[in-house]
Amino acid sequence: MSVPAPERPRSTLRAGVVPYPDDAVRRYREAGLWGDRTLVQEFQRVAAAHPQVVALVTDAGTLTYAELDARTDLIACGLGELGLRPGDPVVFQVTNRQETVLAWYATLKAGLLPVCALAHHRGHEISQISRLVGAVGHLVEAGTRGFDLVAFGREQAQDHPTLRHLLTVGAAADAGTVRLEDLGRDADPTVARARVDAVQAGIGPDDVAVLQLSGGTTGVPKVIPRLHAEYWYNALAYASAWGWNASSRVAHLIPVVHNAGIVCGLHGPHSVGGTLVLASPDLDRALPLMAAAGVTDVLFGHGHYGVIDHPGLAAVVPTLRTVVLSGAKVSAELFDRFEALGLWTGQLFGMGEGMFAVTFPGAPRRARNETVGTPLSPLDEVRVLRPDSEDEVPPGEVGELCARGPYTIRGYLAAPEHDARAFTGDGFYRTGDLARLVDIDGGRYLAVEGRIKDVINRGGEKVNAEEVEQLLVRHPAVAAAAVVAVPDERLGERACAVLVADGDPVDLAELRRHLEALGVAKYKWPERLEWRTELPRTQVGKLDKKRLRAEVAGGPPPG
Ligand code: AMP
Repeated sequence: MSVPAPERPRSTLRAGVVPYPDDAVRRYREAGLWGDRTLVQEFQRVAAAHPQVVALVTDAGTLTYAELDARTDLIACGLGELGLRPGDPVVFQVTNRQETVLAWYATLKAGLLPVCALAHHRGHEISQISRLVGAVGHLVEAGTRGFDLVAFGREQAQDHPTLRHLLTVGAAADAGTVRLEDLGRDADPTVARARVDAVQAGIGPDDVAVLQLSGGTTGVPKVIPRLHAEYWYNALAYASAWGWNASSRVAHLIPVVHNAGIVCGLHGPHSVGGTLVLASPDLDRALPLMAAAGVTDVLFGHGHYGVIDHPGLAAVVPTLRTVVLSGAKVSAELFDRFEALGLWTGQLFGMGEGMFAVTFPGAPRRARNETVGTPLSPLDEVRVLRPDSEDEVPPGEVGELCARGPYTIRGYLAAPEHDARAFTGDGFYRTGDLARLVDIDGGRYLAVEGRIKDVINRGGEKVNAEEVEQLLVRHPAVAAAAVVAVPDERLGERACAVLVADGDPVDLAELRRHLEALGVAKYKWPERLEWRTELPRTQVGKLDKKRLRAEVAGGPPPG
């Protein structure tokens, strides 16, 4: 049967993307790292090789590769019938559930671009992001606790220049919206597959596939364009690093639509025919699901380090082989306690922009505890530079970690001015993280020592300090604002606002109401407040955040 291929949407799938230089592309292909397929074509190949293997386990049950592949063909067909066209961005606001994975592959199969927002983003974030990318679709989850995302989606679509389709998951059939679950219900599977194939034939391996969001260093969100071949390679390299195969059952508890979720949780196991056990972030729900699924591998973000004291962990231990910790320094005590359970414990360092480091199997125990290991790819290039310079620091000294390689972006989406600061002249991404090289037992490893970018890492969600400061000074009682991290045992860090009053100071509850009224996601709201008569300045008159951080943490001011 013949299905006409939709016109190749070159302009949308390359617009605003800084391409990898031709010689780098050649090197990555010659080395066999980049393939020639789209994400969907890669997934289809794996699904065809492992049709009866369970691809996905959630609270809602299991799906084999054959089932997941067939169902997402139908939904993709339904998305096309709605009028969505290849290259149309669709903003995702959904949590870890079966329909999210269906939506992910169906969106890709229809040639649409998933935009990886979070379910807890609100009007302040979504209105900016959806305009920035020219979103055509908005996928929201019904029934999220305390907030009606479906009503929110309707509001967002009003007076929006491009948004035309509100899609839901988990909504009742009569909610008057398009339920993703119902799309393509009546489509013929053969016709649906032919349409998917025709769409994919019009997409190249170096076209943009997914739009991730940066935790960013400026007040305006930055969009990270990830391309088909490099994004799949990132996931396959990650799966290969741990030796995963079709018998691996990998649990993921942090938001799956995050970069770590897609690379390590979804595409990682799916690149080798393994199983994703997609769990809630709530350990009381996640651990029984993991135990029942016989999980072999798990990634715990910093917000879950407390799992070591959870009574539900014992039931997972018999099948669990590998624990990967990520997001913050790992104490020797925590590391030892995991290993004492017979669990091989390691670390991951990574970011939406690309660059991963992992403690590969074979890394000595000390390297697995005290460092984040070595770069994921043999073609990753890493430099530790003196901040604001292109000069490398001597080995062992702390500097800014900069990276270039076969899955690290060369620029943000349509942001040349920002790129000029965020990349070196020769295309290394300046991560904003401080690192040093450490020699252990004859190997050289990367240790993360802090950061220079002005963000707060709240349990893995990045809060941009400058963005919150700009929002706080819009309150009439606030003359000046500085937002800094305070250490927190459970989440790693929380935000503290240090403010100078214009008139009478107000309390934290009032400031949080102010941010809520501005539609700011709750995870960005400061959780501590201090009023000052003035904010400390450096000798050149810049806000002295280093000093403030030390002061609010209760430590002595830095010398
Ligand atoms: P994201 O792009 O949201 O995944 O955030 C990436 C950032 O998270 C990095 O640039 C680091 O600042 C931080 N990060 C990720 N992994 C680690 C880790 N293992 N240790 C410390 N910080 C980390």
